[in-house]
Amino acid sequence: MGSRKIITSSKELPPVSMSIADMEWNKTGNWTFLKPVHRDRLAPCTMECPLSVPINRFMHLVREGSYEQAWKLIVAANPLPAVTGRVCYHSCEGGCNRDEFDEALNIHGIERFLGDAAIGAGWELEPPKEELGGPPVAVLGSGPAGLGCAFGLRRNGYPVIVYERETSPGGMLRVGVPQFRMPRKLLDAEIARLEKIGVEFRCGEQIDDLERVSRGVRAVFLASGAHGSSDPQVEGADCDGIYFGLEFLKKYNSAAAVETGSRVAVVGGGNTALDVARASVRLGAKVDLYYRRTEEEMPAHPEELDEARREGVGFHFQVAPAGIDVGSNGHAQAVSLIRMRQGEKDESGRARPVPVEGSGFKVDASSVVFAIGEQPELGYLRGKAHREGNRLAVDALCRTSIPGVFAGGDIIPGENSVSHALADGIAAAGNMHLIFQNSRPPAEKGETEKPVEPGMINFDYFDTAPRQNGKLIQEKTPKGSREVEATLTEKQAQEESSRCFNCGSCVDCDTCLVFCPDLAIYFQGDKYMVKADYCKGCGICAEECPRGVISMEKKD
Ligand SMILES: Cc1cc2nc3c(=O)[nH]c(=O)nc-3n(C[C@H](O)[C@H](O)[C@H](O)COP(=O)(O)OP(=O)(O)OC[C@H]3O[C@@H](n4cnc5c(N)ncnc54)[C@H](O)[C@@H]3O)c2cc1C
Ligand code: SF4
Ligand code: SF4
Repeated sequence: MGSRKIITSSKELPPVSMSIADMEWNKTGNWTFLKPVHRDRLAPCTMECPLSVPINRFMHLVREGSYEQAWKLIVAANPLPAVTGRVCYHSCEGGCNRDEFDEALNIHGIERFLGDAAIGAGWELEPPKEELGGPPVAVLGSGPAGLGCAFGLRRNGYPVIVYERETSPGGMLRVGVPQFRMPRKLLDAEIARLEKIGVEFRCGEQIDDLERVSRGVRAVFLASGAHGSSDPQVEGADCDGIYFGLEFLKKYNSAAAVETGSRVAVVGGGNTALDVARASVRLGAKVDLYYRRTEEEMPAHPEELDEARREGVGFHFQVAPAGIDVGSNGHAQAVSLIRMRQGEKDESGRARPVPVEGSGFKVDASSVVFAIGEQPELGYLRGKAHREGNRLAVDALCRTSIPGVFAGGDIIPGENSVSHALADGIAAAGNMHLIFQNSRPPAEKGETEKPVEPGMINFDYFDTAPRQNGKLIQEKTPKGSREVEATLTEKQAQEESSRCFNCGSCVDCDTCLVFCPDLAIYFQGDKYMVKADYCKGCGICAEECPRGVISMEKKD
């Protein structure tokens, strides 16, 4: 290696060629057939969100401290962020590009932070720009599907009446999900905001005949959910001390006394089973949960499983109930169980659970709760409307086979979740609007836009940083309705939003402008422009862009 010379003054610099006149005559743009295009692109998190929340854009606003603006971006797509920030299964995070770098972003945590901030500050939804008047749309059911539809219709100025048999709106968010996961004052606040933009709720109205709500209306949206319990078909299951999962939770959530005794056996592996188990822990019982398939096959969300385990629920997989032992007082006193093994695959593609002969055993139980699935109750249709299995069949525009009647949420086939139900309702409202306006219904979905992939993110511009999670409020014996996880603090929300790559969303960072060797990029108004005469199509800007916003495209 030759010796190095340290230069201490400009006089020692070797001669370099440089122009002393301007180079504007040198129109390097003539050399190329490519041009850089700045275009906002679909982020993978947004693609995975059932509500298509523009996450890549609101994160930047949070980082800047523009919380109200960030919240407004969310509520344009999702009217219940304090709710979804708590209960949504956050499929968005499964798509996060940051996972390839260190750890996926806590998107639901920031959504919850903004949802709570909005309630604290009293931010309101935009009222409709114009009132259309005329006959209303009737919505049957006030769960997330009904709320989503009512919200979507009011945005366009249509009158909406929501019929609900319970005394307050909210559907499963009120009667199913326990308070320790979904505080009611926050649900009330987000629903009150919908009332303020003109949604009319008629609670305490059980609808037994569709005719009752369909007279004189523009259309009907069916969103009555799945509230019917499945028959456990277990001997002795009609004695005292036996509950169905949703019946148990409805009592628990309405503050009616639920007598469980000291040992609760929960049968099932879904959300309802886990909520029943965690509620029973809070009632002071020792709780064991029995599921006939393996842990990996459990439909409940893994995070909920972890929380239930932390709270002391005992889990027993590949075990099914065979009978209930009834005491002389007519009350359950034990449950007979049998071990299961994996058999042939069934129509769902999962291994069918098969009883293992001679493996029966008994455990003491003062209560047994069967949480083995809920079914839609569609008696009000009087046998009308086509079905798909036990759900209502709908077309691509959310229309049932009854003219003018739409449906969404848990009564139609598909995923059963709060954000999917909200999305169904909003989509149905959008389709109704197009049909009412005699506009052409949206064309069949063509090729969908491809999201920004990790390879399009320039990782060199980012530092690793730990994911910020809400503080866990761990109690040895959880009691009452206290939430288990705290909302992110403002500092945490700032740190977490700063971790976001803003995949496919330009944040005016000037990287392209600084790196352009021909000074061909400039900022005008609120966006970057390219001087076609000077851009020679080298692609350095696209290569350097940290967030995959620029692509090199053919010149016209
Ligand atoms: C215990 C439990 C916990 C859950 N936890 C989660 C979770 O953490 N995250 C998640 O994403 N999903 C969760 N889910 C699933 C989620 O709650 C549902 O997918 C979602 O609520 C479906 O929304 P929906 O509007 O279709 O129906 P629902 O929320 O069930 O609302 C239907 C409404 O219609 C009303 N209704 C029904 N029939 C009539 C009638 N004839 N007349 C008048 N009113 C009627 C009902 O009273 C109800 O209020 C959970 C479900 C349960 C049971
Ligand atoms: S609604 Fe759910 S999936 Fe969508 S951004 Fe919020 S947490 Fe993520
Ligand atoms: S880094 Fe941000 S924009 Fe990119 S996928 Fe994750 S949350 Fe979305």
